[in-house]
Amino acid sequence: MTTEKTEGIILRVVEFSESSCVVTLLTRDFGKITGIAKGARRRKSPFEAAIDLLAVVRLVFVHKTSTALDILTEAKLQRRFRSASTHLDRLYAAFYCAEILLAMTDENDPHRELYDFAVRMIQNIDDGENLDHCVIRFQLQTLKLLGHGPELNNCVGCGNTIPSEKRYFFGLRDGGVFCADCRRAKKAVASMSAESLELMQQFADPNYNWQRTESSSKQIGEVRALTLRYTSHVLGYEPKLQKYIEKRGT
Ligand SMILES: [Zn+2]
Repeated sequence: MTTEKTEGIILRVVEFSESSCVVTLLTRDFGKITGIAKGARRRKSPFEAAIDLLAVVRLVFVHKTSTALDILTEAKLQRRFRSASTHLDRLYAAFYCAEILLAMTDENDPHRELYDFAVRMIQNIDDGENLDHCVIRFQLQTLKLLGHGPELNNCVGCGNTIPSEKRYFFGLRDGGVFCADCRRAKKAVASMSAESLELMQQFADPNYNWQRTESSSKQIGEVRALTLRYTSHVLGYEPKLQKYIEKRGT
């Protein structure tokens, strides 16, 4: 048992008793951790109201090496998710991101690049950036950082560069685009326009300045639907918050 300090974003809070709660965070140095925050629900506590969904906190905790819960001893608020009470669509989008992070990360398996990226994206959602762009960027980069990024340039069947077409075929099961020849024998294939593929390639490029993206609502709707389907395919189930993202329409 050692006392550790790190920074983390709160992904889940479950009430545990009248005064305590169990908190799951994605931390910068320890990956996902789950710990009990004793007294966190009292007005005066070492947590000073920092235990709030999507809040970024400086954390002190006792790290258990066994399967027992960690013990959170102190949390200082760095940044709260401010749109929570004013923009429900932003809150749902950020909850969706939290749900994906909870599902796709492991306890005690730090991934600093993913942590820094996720905190930045949730801040972008809070700061009023285009919500569709934020969610698509979040999905494609998170999947990429975790080794599930879709192949969008070469055919996942034969490996050849995809020739120029008006429409393309995306294999959900195979995780990428097919050339017309390879597509024939495949199931679970979605069709997308050339413009949508180009947009998806841009969002998947880590160096792309996505905040400057200009896209038609038709394109963004197509890419949004496909990235949602692909993400749920990778997960093996549909995330609970997905319906709120789909509902937004175009
Ligand atoms: Zn092929």
